[in-house]
Order: sequence, then C-alpha cells, then structure tokens
Amino acid sequence: MRLVLLGPPGSGKGTQAARLKVELGVPHISTGDMLRAAVAAGTPTGLKAKAVMDAGKLVSDDILLAMLEERLSQDDVKNGFILDGYPRNLAQADALDHLLAKIGQPLDAVVKLDVPNAVIIGRCEIRFAAEHRKDDDPVVVRDRLKVYAEQTAPVADFFERRGKLQVVDGVGELDEVTGRVKRALDAGSAAANG
Ligand code: ADP
Repeated sequence: MRLVLLGPPGSGKGTQAARLKVELGVPHISTGDMLRAAVAAGTPTGLKAKAVMDAGKLVSDDILLAMLEERLSQDDVKNGFILDGYPRNLAQADALDHLLAKIGQPLDAVVKLDVPNAVIIGRCEIRFAAEHRKDDDPVVVRDRLKVYAEQTAPVADFFERRGKLQVVDGVGELDEVTGRVKRALDAGSAAANG
C-alpha cells in the first residue's frame, strides 16, 4: 500500500500514520520528522531548515525532493509506505508523481483528514504546551494554516482530479478516525479491483 496522508497541521496525520503502519505493515515517512531529525543532528539540511520551520513556512522544494528521493530508495519501502507531510504544494505533487513513475510505484490512495481550523488551533495549543515545538505557537499556527490554505489545499484538488482523493472526518476518538481511514482504503481498493 502506497498511501499519502493529507491534512492541515495538527489534523492527526502523524498520529494516524503511526497506527496505520502497524496494520498495513509499511513504514511511516514523515517529512516533518525527517527535517526535525536533521535539525537535531545539525546537518547542513537541518541548519538551512530550522528558521524556516520555526516560522511555519515551507522548506525549499529542492531539499525536500532530495530527502524524499533518498528515503524512497531504501529497501524497507519496497512493499509501500505512508507518506505524511509531502506533497505540500503543487510543485511537490508533480515531483512526487515523476519520482514514483520513475521507480514504478504509483500511489494507491490519498486520504485527507478533514478538521476545522478551530479544532486545529486547540490541538496545536495543547501540543505546544506539551512539546514546545516553536511552530505550534498559536501565532505561528495561524501562519501555517494560511500556508496550508494557499499552497497545500490545491494538492487535494490535484489528487481529486486524478480520482485518488478520499476525504475522512478527522474529528473524533483516535480509534474512530483510524477506522474511518481503513474503511476508506478498503472501499478504494474494492473499487480499483472492480
Ligand atoms: P504538521 O504535521 O504539524 O503539519 P510537520 O511535522 O509535517 O507538521 O511539518 C513541520 C514543518 O516542517 C512544516 O511547517 C515545514 O516547515 C516543514 N516541512 C515538512 N514537510 C515539508 C514539505 N513537504 N515541504 C516543505 N516544508 C516541509
């Protein structure tokens, strides 16, 4: 299963991916986690990315594509992956399309977690208090939601036009949301198999 999880910051992509990877038996690839690891390790990528991430802006497409290309060349993604945090704009959606075509591994599904902004803002406040991620500061969250609306929302339309997008209600108990995603994936693969 090659799956992209879409959704605004704090919509639960990371949380749901961590659960789904167990059920689907494929790795969870989070570009946010990869970037945070690069920042923590002080790599050249991390040094470039830190200020951009703290401000809630998008790290450059070049950096992301290089990171993703490397990750997707590793052995453990042979049977699929759950991609979380990428693509975040139309250029990245295009780049992913090309990259997956090149390695002969097209996407099976794209699931968007739908969560209203008021809920997002509340969740990020809670995460900020617990984890102190600079980009969860309420002021930065508003900027991230703007970046999402302007740059990432069109990515959902991109997949919708290809008939790949499924939208799932991301509000509710964790188990409930996981169940909804799994049902969406089952319905999608039943439709694909006729
Ligand atoms: P969340 O899940 O809360 O949206 P992430 O952990 O996915 O947050 O991402 C944190 C930050 O990492 C983003 O705000 C952005 O600065 C950077 N980032 C992650 N993925 C990408 C990407 N595909 N393109 C550009 N920047 C990215």
